Parts: sequence; C-alpha cells; structure tokens
Amino acid sequence: MRGGGNQREAVSADPYMLQALSEGRRALPACLPNPPVGCVIVQSGAIIGRGHTQPPGGPHAEIGALAASQGDLADAILYVTLEPCSFHGRTPSCAEAIIASRLRQVVVAIVDPDPRNNGAGINKLRSAGIDVRVGIMEGEARTDLGPYLNLPANKVEPTRGGGRGE
Ligand SMILES: [Zn+2]
Repeated sequence: MRGGGNQREAVSADPYMLQALSEGRRALPACLPNPPVGCVIVQSGAIIGRGHTQPPGGPHAEIGALAASQGDLADAILYVTLEPCSFHGRTPSCAEAIIASRLRQVVVAIVDPDPRNNGAGINKLRSAGIDVRVGIMEGEARTDLGPYLNLPANKVEPTRGGGRGE
C-alpha cells in the first residue's frame, strides 16, 4: 500500500498524457470557471475514449471519457490531467465512477489543490485497489491548469459563509 496522494513521480513525457493535455485544451473557454481538464482511456495501446470538462454542471472529463469507452475496461488505463474529484459537487464523484468502471490503473498529472479533494480522490481510488500514478507531466499540466485552479471562483473560503455551490 502506497502512501498519500502527494507522492509523485517525475515523468516529463508520456504520449498518452500528452493526448490528455491536448484534449483538455478543447474545454476552453466553455468550462470556465472549472479547470480545463482532459482525459483519455487507453486499452491495448490505443485510445478508446476521450473527454474534457463540460460547462459548469455538465460532466467532468473522466465521465466523458468513460461514456465513450466500450466494453470491459479491466485492462484499461485512464490518463487525466487533474486528480479525479472525490466529492459530489454539482456532479457525482469521478473517483466513484472510475471505481465502478473497474479499470486497473489511473495516471494523474497533478493533485487537485481544492481542499475538498487534495489527495482524497487518489486515496479513494487506491483504497479500491486501483493502481494510481501521480506527477506524470506535472509541469505541463500546471502550465495548462494553473491559471484556472487559482481563479478566485475556485478558492474555497469557508469563513466567509455561503461559498460557491460547487
Ligand atoms: Zn470530477
């Protein structure tokens, strides 16, 4: 059993994560203020599903990619540019949807800085027996997602009451 979600590998190039990053860029600008996350699902070396963040309230990247993927995913690998969400916000938890799909490995570029997630999504996947790799093309993902993760709309400020509805 590996430790928390913040343990990272420093892998700077991966052809499938590169595809996930390019898929994520397609989310802009409609996804704002949500971050432009991209996801691809790979089976036997081929991309069988792609997804990116839909406008607020719509499916996240992982859900789109899972919906596009047919058949048994037991030997499939999901690549996603941001840690899957562990909580039910405007949409159901992506981590739970991934667990339900029974795929074997998830590769994540960056840990979600949102305090409601921040490693919880990764821990949830690992607790379900899914192998999770973290930090793959992290630098590139930060360039793409950093500006959006730091938008004031994405900051949770519990002391000010109300907060955003997610
Ligand atoms: Zn999600």
